[in-house]
Amino acid sequence: MGSFRLLVTDEIDPDGVELLRAERSFIVDEIPTPKPDELLERIGNYDAFVGRSATRLPAEVLRRATRLRVIGRAGVGTDNIDIPAATTLGIAIINAPGGNTVAVAELFFGTLIGLVRHLPRAVSTMREGKWDRSQLLGTELRGRSLGIIGLGRIGGEVATRARAFGMTLTAYDPYVTDERFDMLRVARANSLEDLLAASDVVTVHTPLNPETTGMIGARELSLLPAGAIVANLARGGIVEESALSDALRDGAVGGAILDVYTQEPLDPASPLRALPNVVLTPHLGASTAEGQRNVAVDVCVAVRDALLNGELSRAINVVGGIDGRWDEIRPALVLARRMASIGRAMLADRGHRAVDAISLRVGRDLSEAGNLLAASAAAGALDSIIDGVRLNLVNARALAENRGIALSVTTARSNDPDNGAQVTIRSGSHEMCISGVAPEGSGPRLTRIDGFSVDVTPRRTLLVLTNDDVPGVIGRVGTLLGNSAVNIAEYHQARLSAGGDALAAVSVDGNITETVRQQLLSLPDIKSATVIDFSTLDPAGEEAWT
Ligand code: NAD
Repeated sequence: MGSFRLLVTDEIDPDGVELLRAERSFIVDEIPTPKPDELLERIGNYDAFVGRSATRLPAEVLRRATRLRVIGRAGVGTDNIDIPAATTLGIAIINAPGGNTVAVAELFFGTLIGLVRHLPRAVSTMREGKWDRSQLLGTELRGRSLGIIGLGRIGGEVATRARAFGMTLTAYDPYVTDERFDMLRVARANSLEDLLAASDVVTVHTPLNPETTGMIGARELSLLPAGAIVANLARGGIVEESALSDALRDGAVGGAILDVYTQEPLDPASPLRALPNVVLTPHLGASTAEGQRNVAVDVCVAVRDALLNGELSRAINVVGGIDGRWDEIRPALVLARRMASIGRAMLADRGHRAVDAISLRVGRDLSEAGNLLAASAAAGALDSIIDGVRLNLVNARALAENRGIALSVTTARSNDPDNGAQVTIRSGSHEMCISGVAPEGSGPRLTRIDGFSVDVTPRRTLLVLTNDDVPGVIGRVGTLLGNSAVNIAEYHQARLSAGGDALAAVSVDGNITETVRQQLLSLPDIKSATVIDFSTLDPAGEEAWT
């Protein structure tokens, strides 16, 4: 395996960088935060990039990054990366959403207690030489009701800690199962309105998306009990800032905690800064030493695995659904890509070059990975056709669909073999159907080509011959390949009926040149000779079977 060059920016935690440096095949360059010009000039040298939010990766930079396979973001937000451009170019983006969960949950309680016990004022009046005890009468958390919107990673950590304070817990998250509510011992609110009406403190922990943008506006704030507290440590814009300011000013809402804002940094003149009953922090949720270390290590492990094993299950711009099952799925990904390459090449050799549709049928055990396998089949059908573009699981679907190729996936019937898949390539009214199996831990095997039963591993090069079923063909082909210094790894001869049509699937270690192919075609009884060279495929993760 060759070496990989990685660019690490934005002062990623050293534990993450060390992990990358420990790989012998990695050359790691660190630059604190490169200037846009410098980045534009250097990015073409790298196979991977790891950074935080300070280094921007717009489309013009990504277009220069001709070697780049993966971008790692140590943290959650990916606003600094042009994701559509990266996806079109086949660059995987991996972030680290889990590493700072505890940091955010702890900040929530820090700021909440700060608010209810007036800590910011206590600290500043002490600095001014005052002793203002009577003005700073606080309230307790015990017995108050906490409403959590979004019971994901952070919402869950908030719930666990809130119980220690003796708060009563309700959450609203229509996307989470009852089991999670039970496990966290949180009551389920069936609607946002029910949650708001029951909460002394309401805190949002959802992503920012069209559904959650402005989710807490004037109407929602009016549903809260008088004097309730509102917290947003998720993303600016989930709670409407102007509605919140109004409600705080007229006393309908008793207090607020904000760590995130619609515009960051928050405008120095923002009216929010002047409100007394508000605790504002400058997007500090993830800013703990532990949080930064966790996200750095987390993303560096994922970038390392992407480079060394082709593992893309963590990439946010790859169709997912296979959490933790990469090793199990990987042989099937290789199989799907190779089967599609074979099908396309065989159709092309028969004069049907334009592919209209790719249908994939996967075994029931592979059904969750169906979309990813379809992307792999799409890559196989485009291999050696699309020039000058990285073709991989990130962009293959989009590239195929842009060319008008329809992709479909179905799950096989129950009696189909485990880890089995079938790819059908269609060109007009012509079809080519290839089946195979891909057991975990061993190489993918082809089991059927165009109706002929075979049993062969598609290694570096596959030769598919069709011939008349007459004596002597195998010997002549073997002699010709031997004389051409082509080593045969497997030779599987299949026929539909004695003396009828026959097909041979020949797996070889080296190259079969066009001259050798022409010589094969000139042998008696050979009708077609299709050569599929897999050596040019995206090599990640394929070494095990070549
Ligand atoms: P997560 O994906 O684990 O959880 C989000 C939860 O929100 C999910 O359970 C989802 O089902 C739920 N949800 C989605 N849409 C919803 C809706 N319309 N109504 C109710 N629930 C909905 O995410 P997480 O890691 O817990 O992060 C939560 C938020 O915190 C994100 O916005 C993230 O960007 C933010 N965050 C902020 C900081 C910071 O520095 N302040 C740091 C890390 C994360």
